[in-house]
Amino acid sequence: MKNFAYSRPADLTAATEAASADGTRIIAGGTTMVDLLKIGVLNPEALVDISGITDLRGYDVSSDRMRFGALSMMSTVGDDPDVIAAFPALSESLWKAASPQLRNAATLGGNILQHTRCPYYRDTAYAQCNKRSPGSGCAALEGGETTLHAILGGSSSCVAKYPGDFAQVLVAFDAEVTTQGPGGTRTIAFAQLHRLPGDTPHIETVLEPGEIVTAIELPMIPAMTNSTYLKARDRESYAFASASAAVGVEMDGDTVRDVRIGLGGVASVPWRATAAEDSLKGKPLTEEAAREAGRIAFQDAEPLEGSAYKIKLGADVVAGALLQVKTRMGAE
Ligand SMILES: Cc1cc2nc3c(=O)[nH]c(=O)nc-3n(C[C@H](O)[C@H](O)[C@H](O)COP(=O)(O)OP(=O)(O)OC[C@H]3O[C@@H](n4cnc5c(N)ncnc54)[C@H](O)[C@@H]3O)c2cc1C
Ligand code: SF4
Repeated sequence: MKNFAYSRPADLTAATEAASADGTRIIAGGTTMVDLLKIGVLNPEALVDISGITDLRGYDVSSDRMRFGALSMMSTVGDDPDVIAAFPALSESLWKAASPQLRNAATLGGNILQHTRCPYYRDTAYAQCNKRSPGSGCAALEGGETTLHAILGGSSSCVAKYPGDFAQVLVAFDAEVTTQGPGGTRTIAFAQLHRLPGDTPHIETVLEPGEIVTAIELPMIPAMTNSTYLKARDRESYAFASASAAVGVEMDGDTVRDVRIGLGGVASVPWRATAAEDSLKGKPLTEEAAREAGRIAFQDAEPLEGSAYKIKLGADVVAGALLQVKTRMGAE
């Protein structure tokens, strides 16, 4: 690991000022960042540790707008009985992620900004990785292993998948993030936070240098109550998603009034399946409709040889999540 300067400011203004300097990176829980420092993928001149900024802690799910400070811990939020009751998908997306030890150290802000797990990005023995080293090529696309890669949103420069779980819930339920940077504060729709790779896959978000995510907010909507997060993965715990779906449904009698579907493990950014949502609105939530929504969610997929299996897997996960919610609603 290369030597770097380290500071731990106690307030946001000092932190944004320090984090704006060239070659500086932000660290919160450190569960992604320390890994990437150790394996030489990131080599910052300086780290600004934001974990001491008390204003970024705490969360509130009691009003008509949920608010989570960026330093809220994955474990605390995921295990909170009020969160479980109000929004099962959000809680499930957190406790199905990583391991208990990691969830006890990792923050929500760090979780949404975690880096890809593309094996070529994380192994500096591979020279070709446009995300790690712009303009160097892409080892995955140039004959590499692609079973872990994206089938939605990729480009000819990068097909890395966005790895997290929590973000699929946020994109499906119209979350926003608030930030503070050198230019002041702003609110960003969560769907706009992550950038598609295009020909600049090394620029992953719209955040400016030194801009710190301060909180994540969500409007309370009825579809949150009847929601779930279904995750298909190699092992039942401690594994990233091969395909996942965050789903929430609001019924109007026998037909669907509102439905939300976020896809994980299959796309280069947190992905909302709006065409699949539209296919369900105003109709009964039958098994046939759920399977058709799953098919529609992947109708524009562009798989590689290794990732083609994700079309059926992803469609089955979407249908499975919808039917799981239906079963839960029937049991009420
Ligand atoms: C073995 C392993 C398995 C895992 N499995 C899963 C899984 O199944 N599902 C899943 O979702 N995640 C998984 N993770 C990822 C884990 O959830 C993340 O590492 C964690 O959430 C990151 O949070 P952190 O606070 O530790 O972030 P850090 O490591 O401190 O930071 C992560 C990134 O976010 C930036 N950052 C952090 N906070 C802010 C902020 N407030 N404003 C601006 N930038 C910020 C940092 O600069 C860095 O780029 C796994 C991780 C490991 C190591
Ligand atoms: S898919 Fe993206 S992250 Fe992976 S090697 Fe190619 S450019 Fe790098």
